Amino acid sequence: MYDVEKVRTEFPILGRKVGGKDLVYLDNAATSQKPRRVLEALNEYYEEHNANIHRGVHRLSEEATSAYEGSRRKVARFLGAPEETGLVFTRGTTESVNLVAHAWGRKELREGDEVVLTEVEHHSNLVPWQLAARATGAKLRFVPVLEDGTLDMEEAARLIGPRTKMVAAVHASNVLATINPVERLAELAHEAGALMLVDGAQSAPHLPVNVEALGCDFFACSGHKMLGPTGVGVLWGRPEVLEEMDPFLGGGEMIREVHLDHSTWNDPPHKFEAGTMNIGQVVGLGAAVDYLKGLRMENVREHERRLGEYAYQRLSELEGITIHGPTEDRTGIASFTLPDVHPHDLSQLLDEEGIAIRSGHHCTQPLMRRLGVVATARASFYLYNTEEEVDALVDALARAREFFGAFV
Ligand code: PMP
Repeated sequence: MYDVEKVRTEFPILGRKVGGKDLVYLDNAATSQKPRRVLEALNEYYEEHNANIHRGVHRLSEEATSAYEGSRRKVARFLGAPEETGLVFTRGTTESVNLVAHAWGRKELREGDEVVLTEVEHHSNLVPWQLAARATGAKLRFVPVLEDGTLDMEEAARLIGPRTKMVAAVHASNVLATINPVERLAELAHEAGALMLVDGAQSAPHLPVNVEALGCDFFACSGHKMLGPTGVGVLWGRPEVLEEMDPFLGGGEMIREVHLDHSTWNDPPHKFEAGTMNIGQVVGLGAAVDYLKGLRMENVREHERRLGEYAYQRLSELEGITIHGPTEDRTGIASFTLPDVHPHDLSQLLDEEGIAIRSGHHCTQPLMRRLGVVATARASFYLYNTEEEVDALVDALARAREFFGAFV
């Protein structure tokens, strides 16, 4: 039995008040809160083991290295990666995609080649490919999104062909709550001789993920959205693909031999970890992954699926509301617009009641244009949210509407 009340006691911040009201934190797609265990791991690392890694032979350096490499093993296992040599630490999803678009893209893409993305991508899985396309002459193509918030997979099958060198798609949309069939996209990519990158920023924190089962070649996610600290993320890549890639950043640790006029590279994953990494944060991410494993991702998914359904049903009671995305198989995200209130005004009024939601384009401007809106309000749930918090949200929205109605 998943005990949400017990889970809540492990997140100190959930006990705080905002403007005298209990905090209702519904901005988890932006970043998640951190359990005590992660905060303690950070503290313990700095109080007892802090040192630079890999290069030192003293005790602290060995301990720090072992904690850092231990996190690599844990995260690799968490994502179902067969070997940890494919697990590269980065600053987050954004850096992971930039790493691939740069280190793979600049080497492999040529004029006439195509990179297939979707219309629902976060800017961080779009802009790096625009830059790569500009540098190489490759073209970007886009799988359209249908009215119901799912991808047009027939069009995807037509678009992915002999010119395609990379398919890059978001696993779970940060706006529409859709879980995209990335397994099928990976099959289409491989049939065409292309590679597949999955943006897992909104899936790794919420769904059981297995990179082998997804069949992708790259998988990117962010530690801070999955209970870990900011400043650490992950790029998993197939070791044989990472092997062939050029480095991304140059500097210490990523080299084997350095001469004045040239250098040779360390083996993956170290080839992609230049300079002093975010060691403390990596250790914190290891603790976050331990915590998620302890809860079991199947339970996390089931809790959020139920909560998401409940939120969808309760929000639908608000007259005139549009909840974007599919009606079923959703993650715990609800992006919505109300006809008479601007999303920014809504989130400001909700903040006065201690309720944190987000409003804006959510770094998906092309998708906003496709939906015909400039912004949406977005409530996003996580493993510590409750039905009572959904009720608080819906009640506050109803009051906000009344408030604005008075001025119409
Ligand atoms: N992709 C998606 C789907 C996201 O939701 C986000 C974060 N909002 C990102 C990528 C970027 O993640 P980060 O800012 O942690 O690099």
